[in-house]
Amino acid sequence: MDCIFCKIARGELASDTVYENNAVRAFRDIHPKAPVHVLVIPKQHIESIAHLETDHNEIISALIYTAKDIAAKIGLKGYKLVFNVGREGGQVIDHLHLHILGGWGEGVEKKAEV
Ligand code: AMP
Ligand code: ZN
Repeated sequence: MDCIFCKIARGELASDTVYENNAVRAFRDIHPKAPVHVLVIPKQHIESIAHLETDHNEIISALIYTAKDIAAKIGLKGYKLVFNVGREGGQVIDHLHLHILGGWGEGVEKKAEV
């Protein structure tokens, strides 16, 4: 399967990774839409929120807790967590990803270390 985020998940394609474990990888968006814009993806290929099965509970939980930890480490006071779902929902890449968007007016450096 020719999925760009599967390749990033496996480390076959370069990414500005800020966190990784067995289940997830988090990396900076290549075209940031906020001063801080990080994507959190499961290493397992799941197309979108619309394709979730009940046995994906742990993965969804891991995405959200990872996002929370990264936001805390960067020092974001507030942020948005976004899943785009389907073309009509703005989803361009068909591998589940959680957008962390923040850093507005906080003086947070774009390249803040995590
Ligand atoms: P979405 O519109 O929800 O599918 O979001 C896909 C996001 O992936 C966009 O914000 C893109 O800028 C981002 N993106 C695409 N290719 C890469 C890449 N190679 N590395 C990092 N982010 C990427
Ligand atoms: Zn994939």
